[in-house]
Amino acid sequence: MLALGLRQGEALGLQWPDVDLDEGTLRVRRARLRPKWAHGCDGSPGGHKHGGYCPQRRPTRPDTADTKSKAGKRGIGLPDERVTLLRKHREEQNRERLDAGPLWTEGGWLFTTPTGGPLNPRTDTTEWKRLLVILLVVKGRGGSSRRIFPGDGPAPTGGPNETGSETK
Ligand SMILES: [Zn+2]
Repeated sequence: MLALGLRQGEALGLQWPDVDLDEGTLRVRRARLRPKWAHGCDGSPGGHKHGGYCPQRRPTRPDTADTKSKAGKRGIGLPDERVTLLRKHREEQNRERLDAGPLWTEGGWLFTTPTGGPLNPRTDTTEWKRLLVILLVVKGRGGSSRRIFPGDGPAPTGGPNETGSETK
């Protein structure tokens, strides 16, 4: 089951109830979508062509969508060391929640902004790098890098637990 990949948006869409650290499984129930914007202005001559740069931009699609993937139905097994890292991550998040105090918005997300909000795909943040280390490893480069896997890649069935390759 390790060969079942998670897309970036699916990883960012994970919430704690989707993860069973005792069983070592996770379920993909939703995905974060890349924001898409339309102009909120009436096409002023200000020189912003793309809706994303419009000062009055408005989203044209929801930022989170339920997913009906097979992965969501049967769950994905997590190697033991990933479970350990997730437990550690949860403790760190609890500290960050305390640090943020009233600024924290609880959404149950596994990976959040410093104030608890969800992350958008393609956001290059510290948290995103942390996600990759903790849970997932980018498979390949370029276009295929959107696809990431629990553990360290598509392990053959019954293979030994991966020890991680984040030593660089
Ligand atoms: Zn505009």
